[in-house]
Amino acid sequence: MPHDKKDAAEKVRKAVRKGAVEALARRLIAIPSHSGVPTREKEAAEFLHEYLSDEGISARLRKVEKDRPNVIATIKGTSGGGRSLMLNGHLDTVPAYQMTIPPFVPKTKAGRLYGRGALDMKGGLAAMACALVAIERSRVELQSDLVLAAVVGEEERSEGTEDIVMKGPKTDLAIVGEPTNLEIQPSHRGLEWLEVHVYGKAAHGGQTDKGVNAISMAAKFIDAVESELQPKLAKKKSDHTLPPALNLGVIEGGQQPSSVADHCVVGMDRRWIPEESLDQVFQEIYDVFDSVKKNHPRFKAKLKRDPRGMKTMTHVPNVVPSDHALVETLGTSVKRETGRRAKISTFWGWTDAALLTHFAKIPTVVFGPGGAGAHAETEYVKVCDLSACTNVYMDVATRLCLVD
Ligand SMILES: [Zn+2]
Repeated sequence: MPHDKKDAAEKVRKAVRKGAVEALARRLIAIPSHSGVPTREKEAAEFLHEYLSDEGISARLRKVEKDRPNVIATIKGTSGGGRSLMLNGHLDTVPAYQMTIPPFVPKTKAGRLYGRGALDMKGGLAAMACALVAIERSRVELQSDLVLAAVVGEEERSEGTEDIVMKGPKTDLAIVGEPTNLEIQPSHRGLEWLEVHVYGKAAHGGQTDKGVNAISMAAKFIDAVESELQPKLAKKKSDHTLPPALNLGVIEGGQQPSSVADHCVVGMDRRWIPEESLDQVFQEIYDVFDSVKKNHPRFKAKLKRDPRGMKTMTHVPNVVPSDHALVETLGTSVKRETGRRAKISTFWGWTDAALLTHFAKIPTVVFGPGGAGAHAETEYVKVCDLSACTNVYMDVATRLCLVD
């Protein structure tokens, strides 16, 4: 007998163990899983796999690359009615960098849980796992599948979610648990890492007239980006996301002071909107090349996509209409939890949601806890938001994975 949705939601709520989500988030934070850790996400993945298995949830480790498995846990639906849902969160974090708190010794103070990855996004991941645990413990039978995909590599090339896109599981809908401060974020910009290689001609620093200085030429390029391209971008707007942006992030060139530099690389981050195409993004840079060449005929440059920016799938923008059934159902669950109407906004960063929406054709929105300091010196997640997210994830799962 299928459960009545209201009864089911109540039963699941009662199955939540107090303090479990914070405890799980702490355990995950204590396991470093950033680049530079020899086994990367492996230990965190194995821990989560065991945690879910111990709860009687069917979970497996599926290798993406050597020592780098995704965790895929499934609560099987009984009949396939309703809509299947994937909760997706990443296991990796950025390194500790210059953190001013102990990164891997989680501490809770004044309702905030501190540590690397607390907000981005071991907190959200813990809430997703606890939602599955509560549903499993409640013995409520879902009609369609509820999947948790804990993935590797989101902070770099999104290898983990690419693997999900290629090999499944395929669900009808998905939620990515990146931090949104309990706002529903159905859209965000695309992200492209670009390199402009400027080529000069080497010569002795005492005979500069015999060479072409790639660093000076790169400076002309940067000038033109600032004076011609940035104002153009500033005029563009999107109906779905924040406006486009371009950041000059890296400059590298030359060998030593007494040599005319023959090579200089400018690394850029370009956030592109759904109304733009990637070809347009490239063409704008070629237009800057042409403009520089007019005044400096010896300017020679090549535009390349940075191979570190992605694996095989372009980091496209994410667009799910704000009146989509997933957004509406999520809104109902948020209102039930917070008593307030859910705010619908746009995510400022890029997430794996775009790969799921665009390449796997699974409409995916971003929803997660609040806090501060993702990638920064002091990172924390609000503990009350961890419980709120657990409740929202399980409420939305019972609403979607059960038929009316
Ligand atoms: Zn993240």
